[in-house]
Amino acid sequence: MRFTWATRTDRGKVRDHNEDSVWPHDDGHTEEALIVAVADGMGGHAGGEVASSVALETATTVGGDPAMRIRAANLAVVDAARDRPRLAGMGTTLTLGVFDPDGDLDIAHVGDSRAYLWRDGELSQVSKDHSYVAELIDAGELAPEDAANHPYRSVVTRAVGLDQTVEVDSYGVVLEVGDRILLCSDGLTDMLTDDEIARILEGAAEVDQAADDLVKEANGAGGVDNISVVVVEVTA
Ligand code: CA
Repeated sequence: MRFTWATRTDRGKVRDHNEDSVWPHDDGHTEEALIVAVADGMGGHAGGEVASSVALETATTVGGDPAMRIRAANLAVVDAARDRPRLAGMGTTLTLGVFDPDGDLDIAHVGDSRAYLWRDGELSQVSKDHSYVAELIDAGELAPEDAANHPYRSVVTRAVGLDQTVEVDSYGVVLEVGDRILLCSDGLTDMLTDDEIARILEGAAEVDQAADDLVKEANGAGGVDNISVVVVEVTA
């Protein structure tokens, strides 16, 4: 299998800086293994930007399986904050995928940045948010359709960089030719419904157009947060 990808990260229409980071920085294609990732930083002052970039630098270079990469990123962010009061309390989401040309995708995930699989016209969310509203939905106390408007929708229950240890969730996907995989920050999913995301992935001829259209439509819907997307297409 071969992989063609496009990544975008955009400040949005409201925020004055971008605390998200994406990997890779450039679009491309490969017949070899591919690592992709999205991180959405949080924390006052410069903290969010530092947390997401330190996490991605570490997770994409350290080696090991996706969950090990995230645990290493966690320690790197904790270390970066140590003795630097300006960065105290910084953290980040991290969703990372490793594509194997033999046809497997391994995903590891902390926070509320998401991984989606688009296959045969159907969009399914692969990752499960570590967020307050996701817990409310699981407990039957909130209807899924009300989540997008909940006042605490951006409160995460797990993040990278807050503690020496972090609980990481892992998911596996057996890839098929024609699959499109989307990793994204909540700046996309707070602005667009899953149906809108599916329509954009369906309508774009190429991954770079899909990535451009996702960012454009999220900005068109308000762009209240930083918007980051990674779109990967699987070909024979
Ligand atoms: Ca965000």
